[in-house]
Formats: sequence, structure tokens, C-alpha cells
Amino acid sequence: MQRINQIINIVSNDKPVSKETARILRHKLIKNDFIVSEKFEPNANLIICIGGDGSFLRTLHKYNFPDIPVIGINTGHLGFFQDIAPHELDEFIFRYKKGDYVIDHIHPLEGLICTRNSCIEVLGINEIVIKGLKSTTIHLNLFLDQSFLEKFSGDGLLISTPTGSTAYNYSLRGSIVDPRLNLLQITPIAPINTVAYRSFTSSIIVPNYSTIKIHPEYTYENSVLIVTDGTEYKYNGIVEVLVKLSELKIKLLRFKEYSFWNKVKEKFL
Ligand code: NAP
Repeated sequence: MQRINQIINIVSNDKPVSKETARILRHKLIKNDFIVSEKFEPNANLIICIGGDGSFLRTLHKYNFPDIPVIGINTGHLGFFQDIAPHELDEFIFRYKKGDYVIDHIHPLEGLICTRNSCIEVLGINEIVIKGLKSTTIHLNLFLDQSFLEKFSGDGLLISTPTGSTAYNYSLRGSIVDPRLNLLQITPIAPINTVAYRSFTSSIIVPNYSTIKIHPEYTYENSVLIVTDGTEYKYNGIVEVLVKLSELKIKLLRFKEYSFWNKVKEKFL
């Protein structure tokens, strides 16, 4: 099927190689009868994000998780989200015009950070981290679906989506999760497990419909840091953090031969 006059948003980071890739891509898309928007167009048909995974994550946050399919061109280091290489632009355009792709849906995490006065909502594609603001031990009461599970002591807790399982979660010895599984992973960051403090030392895997509630111990209310996909949120008097999977969908455009496990092998082994 010929797809012309579609509007494309190109979002690039500031690296010279990304800017140059954006320039070449723009030229090629226009030659193929696509409209490349000057500014971010909320009604566009596609977002092409140029950079690494960091740029990919920042783009979706910056434009508030738009309901537009997104694909990435990797000019970064790892490029776990970024499926196209800069030398594959012609092939990408050819296959996109033919409709030779699928759209995968992923859900971000939704965190509700509540202080004594108000609640603030944050979203995380990879993860939401609750950790100490300083280098001291933090004590967090962890509840699963209203039921108390543990008093965690250590550096913090990370809650990861299957998509984020290959990111910070993996460095913390969390498991790599096949994205076809609907679950959340709670991974401890440097847990203390001694006669003084008892914390689980491995990840905990819970179903996608779980609600995870974290109450910092009273004396730590002013020393909690929340980090979602690398962005920090600091608030005084945090009494509760609620985390669950959002109903929001991120649409990832992928070629039909995409295989998560091939990507894992390619990037990690
Ligand atoms: P960043 O420099 O943008 O990213 C750190 C590394 O994580 C980069 O190599 C990045 O790939 C890679 N990455 C991001 N998402 C990934 C995913 N889903 N699967 C595999 N690798 C992924 O760091 P940032 O701005 O602080 O935070 C962005 C993300 O980095 C966070 O969401 C977190 O998961 C991860 N992070 C990891 C660690 C760690 O492993 N110790 C610490 C902090 C943050 P590119 O090279 O392509 O950008």
C-alpha cells in the first residue's frame, strides 16, 4: 500500500551525528512525499526519534506520551529502543511506505507521590526508583495490594516494567523479562539482610494489576528521592508512593522480524 502525505515528526538530540542523520532523513522523506513537520505536530502519523535510548525516553516524556507510533534511529551508545541504524534509512522508508511493520504496545508505570499536602503523578517507561536523597540507609515499608510485605532497608527499591527490565533493573541483578509477559518487578538496591535488618535480596515479580505502596519510615520522609527514567523528583514530607501499571499505551513501530531475545543477545552477550 502506498502511504503518502503522512506527517512525520523528527526529534533529534544535539549530537552532530544525530543532526546530520535528521537532515538526510528529512530530505529522503520529503522526496518520498511525506510531510516533515517543522515543529512537533500532535496529529502526526509517526515520530522518528534520533539518538540513544536516553533520547527516546526523554522524547516520550517531553511530548507527554503522545498517541502516535514511534520508532528510533540509533546514534547513541546502546540503542535498545532504537531499531534502525543510520545506514538503513532507505530501507526503512521503503518498508514503512509498504506498511511492512507491526505496532507493539507497551504500558508505562504510573507513580503517585503523596506528601502531607498533595499528590503528584509521574510516569516511567523503564522504571520508578524510590531511594535515599543522601548516602544514608533508607527504610521503606512495602505493601502489595494493601497487604504489608516487608520493611526494606538499604539504598532503595526499583520498580521496573518488562521493557525496563534490561535497563537499571538488569544492573541491579534483576531479571530480564520477555515483554509479552504482563508483570512488574520490584528490585532491591543494595538491600541489607542481617540480624539488624531483614530485606529480600532478590527481585519480587508481581502481576501487572498489582498496586505497590511504599511508606517511607517517618524519620525518612524528607530524605526520599524519586527517579523515573533518569529524571529526579525531590519533595519534602513524602508519606506514600503508589505504583501501578498505567492504562496509557506507547505505540512502538517495529519491523515484523523484530525479536526481543535476538536484541538481548546482540546487546548483552
Ligand atoms: P542514560 O545515560 O540515558 O542511560 C544509561 C544506559 O541505559 C544507556 O546506555 C542507555 O542506552 C541504557 N538504557 C536505557 N533504557 C534502556 C533499556 N530499556 N534497556 C537497556 N538499556 C537501556 O541514563 P539516565 O538518563 O540516567 O537514565 C535513563 C535510563 O538509564 C534509566 O531509565 C535507567 O534504566 C538507566 N540507568 C541505568 C543505570 C545503571 O545501569 N546503573 C543507572 C542509571 C540509569 P543508550 O546508550 O542507547 O542511551
